[in-house]
Amino acid sequence: MYRNGDYDMKLSLRTKLTISYISITLISVFLISIITNLLLDKHFKEYVIKNQDHKNEEIASLVSQQFKPGEGWDIDSIEDICISALGQGMIIKVEDPSGDVIWDARLHDNSLCEQMLHHMEQNMSSRYPNWEGGYVENVYPVVSDKLGKVGTVIIGYYGPYYFSDSDLAFIYTMNRLLVGVGVFSLVLSLFLGWIMSKRLSTPISRAIATARMISKGYFNDRITEKSNTKETAQLTETINNLAEVLEKQEALRKQLTADVAHELRTPLATLQSHMEAMIDGIWKPDTERLKSCHEEIMRINRMIGDLEKLARYESENLILTKSNFDISELIRNIINNFEKDFLNKDVKIKFVGENTGLKADKDKISQVIVNLLSNAIKYTPQGGTVCVTVKDCDDTVEITVEDNGMGISPEDLPHIFERFYRADKSRNRLTGGAGIGLTITKAIVEAHKGKIQVQSKINEGTKFIVLLPKS
Ligand code: ADP
Repeated sequence: MYRNGDYDMKLSLRTKLTISYISITLISVFLISIITNLLLDKHFKEYVIKNQDHKNEEIASLVSQQFKPGEGWDIDSIEDICISALGQGMIIKVEDPSGDVIWDARLHDNSLCEQMLHHMEQNMSSRYPNWEGGYVENVYPVVSDKLGKVGTVIIGYYGPYYFSDSDLAFIYTMNRLLVGVGVFSLVLSLFLGWIMSKRLSTPISRAIATARMISKGYFNDRITEKSNTKETAQLTETINNLAEVLEKQEALRKQLTADVAHELRTPLATLQSHMEAMIDGIWKPDTERLKSCHEEIMRINRMIGDLEKLARYESENLILTKSNFDISELIRNIINNFEKDFLNKDVKIKFVGENTGLKADKDKISQVIVNLLSNAIKYTPQGGTVCVTVKDCDDTVEITVEDNGMGISPEDLPHIFERFYRADKSRNRLTGGAGIGLTITKAIVEAHKGKIQVQSKINEGTKFIVLLPKS
């Protein structure tokens, strides 16, 4: 038994799946962002440093070219170059060999230089809050082939490296893109998680509902929803099979109760009327009448015995204890046991068949042969013949039991395998059959995945054909 409260604390499959999807997405996006930023920092830093070195060397070389031997420094050109370099964050100072200033960016516009340095510091601390950097200088001597050292170019900048506005814009765009991808993945995972969990949980919820209905005795409920998930499809199929088996068993139980009541009513009514007649003194309780009552009691007894057998077979017929044996040998042994009955009734028995191996439940197959043979004797008059054959047909074995007895009418033929069905009730009552021998026979054959067929003509004979798979 379960109480609803026990499950209130538990998360539904849908919630769990959605949480898992979101967690996986969040973790993945978070990891991707961290790794991207780490890699970006490393490679971008290398790129920026290389770029700065390259620019420094380029400017230094450009400034050096402004010295013409014999003419000296071209101050105007130096100024052009240096002002343009200042725009890119490079504070340039050119000195002659004695240390006197030829051109100095700070002298040109110190506040612009400070502004540049401050701006770079802001850029760097906006990206790295604990950033520690400062003004650094690179010194490049200017050497003339003829005159030797003619000056020095000192390039100052914010070091050890800095990100320009466009560098920062690139990094921010990248991060915005990552956030965008993250949000999109989150929405997507929520959506997919919802769809997936709905697909999974709907058939499971349906299976639970059906199982509950089954437990309440509603065996005709079935799950019609199809699932393309292997496990849920198997679960649905299993529950449907379970419902089917239970429904069949329930029908069988009801049928059996009705049949038993019906079958017992006739002999009991006979007994009751005979007894009442004797009690009322209408009939004398002589040996003949008591014998008739005794016969009725015997019949009821036999019927109860048969019923027990039937109940056993119907509950056990799914459990087969298979072994390998020779079917012809088994039939020959059974015929030997029946020999006396055949002799007593003056019915001939023939067997035709070669040795054939079979993997089946030996006891249950014996029961099949015994039932068919005893019917053949029962329903074949004196002087008749019963012929049993065994034929090996590749994957199956064909067993036939044929007699030239009274036969079965076409109206009865479709019903003879039904429980308690007797072709001629009054006649068979004398032979003692309760009409369940063939029911058991069919149940056993079908449990072996075999088939049983019957051909019969009234007053000519009957042929039962049993087809059994060899394994
Ligand atoms: P029973 O106990 O009455 O023999 P079965 O289930 O074995 O019950 O058979 C059902 C009915 O089928 C029998 O009552 C009989 O009328 C008919 N039947 C079975 N076998 C034969 C046969 N070999 N020849 C004629 N009738 C048969």
